[in-house]
Amino acid sequence: MKKAPLPANEVKRLHALHRLDLLDTDPEPAFDDLTMLAAQICGTPIALVSLVDAERQWFKSRCGLQVCETSREVSMCAHAFTEPDGVLVVPDAALDERFADSPLVVGEPHIRFYGGVVLWSPDQLPLGALCVIDHRPRTLDASQQRALKALARQAEAQMHLRLRVRELRETSLALQRQKSRLMQQHHALEERCEQLAVEARVDALTGVGTRRDADHRLGDEFRVALTLNLPLSVALIDIDRFKQVNDTYGHARGDEMLRQVARKLASELRSDDYLARFGGEEFVVMLPNTPAELARKISERLRLAVETGPWQAPDELTVSIGFACADAHADSIEALVAAADAALYQAKGNGRNRVVAANDMPAGQSALRVVR
Ligand code: GH3
Ligand code: MG
Ligand code: MG
Repeated sequence: MKKAPLPANEVKRLHALHRLDLLDTDPEPAFDDLTMLAAQICGTPIALVSLVDAERQWFKSRCGLQVCETSREVSMCAHAFTEPDGVLVVPDAALDERFADSPLVVGEPHIRFYGGVVLWSPDQLPLGALCVIDHRPRTLDASQQRALKALARQAEAQMHLRLRVRELRETSLALQRQKSRLMQQHHALEERCEQLAVEARVDALTGVGTRRDADHRLGDEFRVALTLNLPLSVALIDIDRFKQVNDTYGHARGDEMLRQVARKLASELRSDDYLARFGGEEFVVMLPNTPAELARKISERLRLAVETGPWQAPDELTVSIGFACADAHADSIEALVAAADAALYQAKGNGRNRVVAANDMPAGQSALRVVR
């Protein structure tokens, strides 16, 4: 028996065959219907869909044959690969020098007639054949040949469909992987955004509000106060001679004192009040719905709490506080804060560790242009 020559693109061909995922799968009606029709139309006892693997030919569908594979060496379908039109008709294998001594001819299943049409991959690599086999010499008429070719195209279409399904499955898997990567990135970004939002709102050193957050909150609260005709007070608190704390005890200790002062101020405030770090060693307190007399009391309470301490290293600490109260006629939140700032400046000038109200100040010195 003459072995069929290996196709030039054997490696690519095998790759294409294996991508089909058809080898060693169960019988399927889609192929069995075709071999049944091929056998009927051509009038042969046997019809096969044969796939030519590296070392064997394996039958995806077999009509009239028990064995499910043979060695590649005895494959007649492999010979069809080298036929110019992919069609091989062997009227009498016993008289054909290529097959006369083949074990499939001299022994089971005693092939005499063979007619096969190559099954191609989408990029024209020969994968196997749809073939009809008889135990006696014979031939196919023109219409039987046409029908066999048409059935082969159908078998091919089935195989191409498998490839398409596999490609779609791979694409869908890749998309799923991509999606889960994107989801992970999305979550990481969301976490980062939340973290940034917190960082923008909460001062890292003291845990109270940031200057930026304070600006927003003050603006919002000012609008609410104007709309509802409620008094709003703002106090600015600056630690006295804080530079000396740093100079004497070191910057790290200074940081710790800032944390402790923030905690003490926060503990003296009501739940609606708001505390932020306005600058280095300066805090702002927003007191909603708080008229001037009450703002003064609260400011005094804050001042006294810091004065009382107790503190260690340094063992004394004081703050100066300037506050301003706006009623419905206040110009702007900026004017209110500037008024509190001017009052704070006055408190420093008056000797520190004291509270000054914007409207305690002589006319013209207060930046607060509030009609009372
Ligand atoms: P005054 O009573 O006039 O407010 O005196 P002062 O020393 O507090 O004011 P000054 O403006 O001269 O100095 C403020 C000091 O606050 C200087 C700076 O080193 C310190 N400071 C500002 N921010 C921080 C901080 O985050 N950590 C520490 N440890 N010190 C800070
Ligand atoms: Mg200071
Ligand atoms: Mg200061």
